[in-house]
Amino acid sequence: MNDSDDDNLRPATKLVQGGRRPEWTGDPRLGGGVVNPPVWRASTILYDNIADLKARGHATHDKLYYGRRGTPTVWALADALTQMEPGGEGTLLYPSGVAANSAGLLALLAPGDHLLMVDSAYEPTRSFCNGLLKRYGVTTTYYDPLVGAGIAELITPETRLIFLESPGSLTFEVQDIPAITAVARERGVLTMLDNTWATPLLFPALKQGIDVTMMSLTKYVGGHSDAMMGSLTASKAVWSKLRSAAYQLGQSVSPDDCALMLRGLRTLDVRMQRHGENGLAVANWLAARPEVGRVLHPALVGDPGHAIWARDFTGTSGLFGFTLKGADTASRTRFIDALAHFGIGFSWGGYESLVVPSDPAEIRTATRWDDPDALVRLSIGLEDPADLIADLARGFAAMPA
Ligand SMILES: *Cc1c(COP(=O)(O)O)cnc(C)c1O
Repeated sequence: MNDSDDDNLRPATKLVQGGRRPEWTGDPRLGGGVVNPPVWRASTILYDNIADLKARGHATHDKLYYGRRGTPTVWALADALTQMEPGGEGTLLYPSGVAANSAGLLALLAPGDHLLMVDSAYEPTRSFCNGLLKRYGVTTTYYDPLVGAGIAELITPETRLIFLESPGSLTFEVQDIPAITAVARERGVLTMLDNTWATPLLFPALKQGIDVTMMSLTKYVGGHSDAMMGSLTASKAVWSKLRSAAYQLGQSVSPDDCALMLRGLRTLDVRMQRHGENGLAVANWLAARPEVGRVLHPALVGDPGHAIWARDFTGTSGLFGFTLKGADTASRTRFIDALAHFGIGFSWGGYESLVVPSDPAEIRTATRWDDPDALVRLSIGLEDPADLIADLARGFAAMPA
């Protein structure tokens, strides 16, 4: 079985077959093969003799060389993720999503360069731009997530990269990605997207003109809140630059974690459908409640980002926000503390529902978040949504002081 080069397979099939190359799952000396690429733990790789060492000494990919360069377990995950992105030349894996974002920015930018960063980016991405990147002489301008083709006016002769994240962290603005990539292509500027919310299942980014797409695999791909990892999947134009930087930075991941990620990946399609459905059930219920100001969910018809979401995405995940009408942070705390079926915790995309308070006004610089109502973020898991809804009703009941 080797359909790994078949770009015409549908995404759900690719999730099942990806990375299961016979050379990684079978040993001809033993007869058959196993379903999953085994966990190959390695630092040292042994060579047959010096000639062998010399011949393989410069291998960079798909050949055992040294543990840091990966083993078949690692390559299988990278290969499966590349197959999910039509137009992808390859995938690099990093110890976390933050590490993937930072490594991508470092690889593609040099002192004197200018970066356009979306104002609704995940906060640690901003920290990297305002910290290390700035120290290395890269200047960052934050832009309105709704800028669309207007991004053209922000491009300077020094602009090398436009970074996107859609829907945005905490506030879920939907960017007009095709409009931005069209301008970027015309002006010779690269684009990088944080695609953690959608994954390539709901938004195949490279097909939409993005050069590098990033995912925190910690979220939906892992799906079980027990492992951390990040990925960059790149088009041919930037692939070797990213790989060289990853090697220089010594970025490598554990084969045990890759096995967990591969296990999650196989069920991503069914989980994502259920996360999406459950999330919509909860979001629609919230939208009709008197305690709720607004629901920030692009798959809801009234959402400001709905038209672009419907045009570009093939579905929804289970992460969204909502405001508590007229509520201050103290009543938000009473609401959250009263919930029994939502864990209070960061990260998201696991099988269990989570809730966190969010305060975007403190983070934004190019735009203003001036909704006075307290904001909440929900990651809807795989529980029965009726139980989640009953729990949220209990939370509302606990809000009055
Ligand atoms: C969580 C997250 C990250 C970072 O991923 P980690 O694996 O936690 O480092 C990056 N981007 C987005 C949008 C995230 O939600």
